[in-house]
Amino acid sequence: MTSPIRFFVDEMLFDVAKYLRVMGYDARFPKPGTRDSVILRQLDSRILITSDREFCQRATRKKKECIYIEVQDSFIKKLAKIFRRTGIRPNYKESRCPHCNVILKRRRSDTLRGIEPIIKEEFQWVYVCPKCGHIYWKGKQWRSMTSRIRRAMRKARL
Ligand SMILES: [Zn+2]
Repeated sequence: MTSPIRFFVDEMLFDVAKYLRVMGYDARFPKPGTRDSVILRQLDSRILITSDREFCQRATRKKKECIYIEVQDSFIKKLAKIFRRTGIRPNYKESRCPHCNVILKRRRSDTLRGIEPIIKEEFQWVYVCPKCGHIYWKGKQWRSMTSRIRRAMRKARL
């Protein structure tokens, strides 16, 4: 069995990292101000995703896998490029907290405090981040994210 694909995403592509996490992929960020040489050392087997062309070339020379993303490309185009290059598919069973990169836990909404009754009524299951405690459910925001992901997959012809 091959190990799952993991990513290291540069600061300019925070949105991309958030989507990768929601799709179930480990997408790490450098701490702000981390030098490129330090990032290269921290990469391990992670795929680097960056909008810095020179940095990407440098990584490639060091035999690291890199995906270069144009900042001005549409978000769908950015995601589609990643789909094409890696062949990844969303794995929502392992969705991660967009902020913490930690796999969310599925919980029955009626067992939790701090959720509005209207949410409990509509959603039997919610997803809790074990690190920051944030609670997610498959509402409007979820639907909009998954629809963008589907559009990107169509664009990548997966
Ligand atoms: Zn979290």
